[in-house]
Amino acid sequence: MIDPKQFDSLQKMTSKSFHQQKKLIKNVMAGKKVFCPVCDQLLVLTLPKAGEQSKSNKAPGISCAKGCTDIILDFED
Ligand SMILES: [Zn+2]
Repeated sequence: MIDPKQFDSLQKMTSKSFHQQKKLIKNVMAGKKVFCPVCDQLLVLTLPKAGEQSKSNKAPGISCAKGCTDIILDFED
């Protein structure tokens, strides 16, 4: 059984990081230079390659060189 107070703080934390992530995604998509909050390396946007079989397993998204930031984006609406 989960403590409701614990659950509440968990929800707030998740919501906060969700908004931070949303802002980060927005900036990267806008072509701005955004750095990984963990390792300070430039975040790279990987776009899905239309009409080409993906040779790598890299999913479309935003990631840093070290991999501590690895946001998978769903481009299918
Ligand atoms: Zn990183």
